[in-house]
Amino acid sequence: MTQSTQEPGFLGEASAWLLPTLASFRQEFPAHTNPSQACRIRWNTLLCDANLVSLTWPAEHSGRALPTRDLIAFHELCARHGAPQPINSIAHSILAPTLLQFGTASQKERFLPGIRLGAEIWCQGYSEPGSGSDLASVRTRGTPSADGWLVNGHKIWTTQAHLARWCFALVRTDPDSVGHRGLSFMLIDMRAPGVRASPIRQLTGEADYNEVFFENVAVPAENIVGDVGEGWRIAMAAAEYERGVYFLPRVVQLEHELQRAQALFEHAELLAGERDVYAHRLQEAQDRCQVTRWRVEQVIGRVAAGDTPGIDGAILKLLWSETRQMVIELQLELAGERAVVGPEATGEYAEQASIVREFLWSRAETIVAGTSEIQRNIIAERLLGLPKDKSIHAN
Ligand SMILES: Cc1cc2nc3c(=O)[nH]c(=O)nc-3n(C[C@H](O)[C@H](O)[C@H](O)COP(=O)(O)OP(=O)(O)OC[C@H]3O[C@@H](n4cnc5c(N)ncnc54)[C@H](O)[C@@H]3O)c2cc1C
Repeated sequence: MTQSTQEPGFLGEASAWLLPTLASFRQEFPAHTNPSQACRIRWNTLLCDANLVSLTWPAEHSGRALPTRDLIAFHELCARHGAPQPINSIAHSILAPTLLQFGTASQKERFLPGIRLGAEIWCQGYSEPGSGSDLASVRTRGTPSADGWLVNGHKIWTTQAHLARWCFALVRTDPDSVGHRGLSFMLIDMRAPGVRASPIRQLTGEADYNEVFFENVAVPAENIVGDVGEGWRIAMAAAEYERGVYFLPRVVQLEHELQRAQALFEHAELLAGERDVYAHRLQEAQDRCQVTRWRVEQVIGRVAAGDTPGIDGAILKLLWSETRQMVIELQLELAGERAVVGPEATGEYAEQASIVREFLWSRAETIVAGTSEIQRNIIAERLLGLPKDKSIHAN
């Protein structure tokens, strides 16, 4: 795509690219099929080839220096037309903004092109067995070596670690520290000797997540972002970038899914009493979708104005994930016995299989990026002023 900095010019240009590109993409990966790793890798490549993953980066890093509202509009456009999430979205939405804000000149020079051009996939190495909600209790440790650090530890739930070339990880570099002090934000080469990724099979039958083992992995000193011991501050800032645009495509998808539930309701063979019950449940889902839409607009408005989502991010996460489970459960029930097929079914059962797959997948959404209980704790403490939960450092 050619460079354009004018609104609505950018969106016009983006639409002109998106619609024909998606049409031919869908020949290869039809809409109701599983958005598999191959599908998401291909979509990432198409976005990178069209220079569409560095929209807000400054021109000095070959970005297009567009305003955040263009980025938001592009995400919404892609979601409205049912585009999949690109495989490297973690790098686009979390790591790139982090490097742009906290990285050294040589870190930016080394790592940003690989993200922009789609040559290097990243994964996020935060969670560990025993350090998920209580992320500040991370035990993976870095010990000083001649030219940097030797890393030893065990991460878990690391999305696409088996595909990733690099991992940004939280590592305890001060052995005497507890909680969020003494952690560093490290960029770890997944091809370095001593790194092992072991995939975990999930409910849907796929294996997108991994346990990752680090055994005496050498990490050069220049691969720490920010100062040694400053990892918590950087990880928390990184989480704020993600919350900004993470939910918008997902809320658009939720709205499509609500329409699908309504269509299934229209065609379902139900007894009179059942019809009233489902009509009531659908109305509740519709009301929650509307509230979720208002909330996402509130968050987007703040992000577009250069602010962070703050507490609204926690409210939105809770609303979106629980409403989505509600809508997909309705779909599954209304699809009736046709939804007994497995998540991998194809042909005439492809649509039912996609409902089953989304139902199974949606179980994870009240866990990933902070569980519902943790979001409720945050809301209770920060918004309602209830006493702080001392059993947890933060998330
Ligand atoms: C789909 C998916 C993708 C993920 N991808 C990544 C990734 O790429 N990188 C990464 O680092 N991590 C990833 N995670 C991990 C995710 O961040 C953690 O699963 C999450 O933070 C919860 O941690 P945990 O699994 O250790 O559960 P725990 O923290 O052990 O929680 C277990 C249960 O106890 C509850 N609980 C815990 N503490 C409290 C409390 N103080 N008050 C009330 N209830 C509490 C929780 O809500 C939960 O129900 C992913 C998870 C999922 C599901």
